[in-house]
Amino acid sequence: MRPPVHGLDLDAETRCAHWRSPLDIIALKMRCCRTYYACRDCHDALADHRAALWPEAEWDEPAVLCGVCGKELSVREYLACESQCPLCRAYFNPGCHKHRHLYFAVEA
Ligand SMILES: [Zn+2]
Ligand SMILES: [Zn+2]
Ligand SMILES: [Zn+2]
Repeated sequence: MRPPVHGLDLDAETRCAHWRSPLDIIALKMRCCRTYYACRDCHDALADHRAALWPEAEWDEPAVLCGVCGKELSVREYLACESQCPLCRAYFNPGCHKHRHLYFAVEA
């Protein structure tokens, strides 16, 4: 079953008020509350606490959701997927990789 996603102005494929291009179809689970948000800005606007990032030791946790088919990817799978869903082959915004330090504890 597809996990619930929170966000501002959310659409059916998890676009939000901040990220609305055709490719902006992933949602991210934050480590602090293990809840999916459309993006970090949505988390920070709606959650009542500071965001926590996923440390590398926990990168096998599912933390990225494809908004098209509902597949959950682990952090490791997401970082290796080359901006394409391994299940439905939908393309993700390659620009999201530039923001991975907002979600995962990586060298920026
Ligand atoms: Zn949180
Ligand atoms: Zn957002
Ligand atoms: Zn998919």
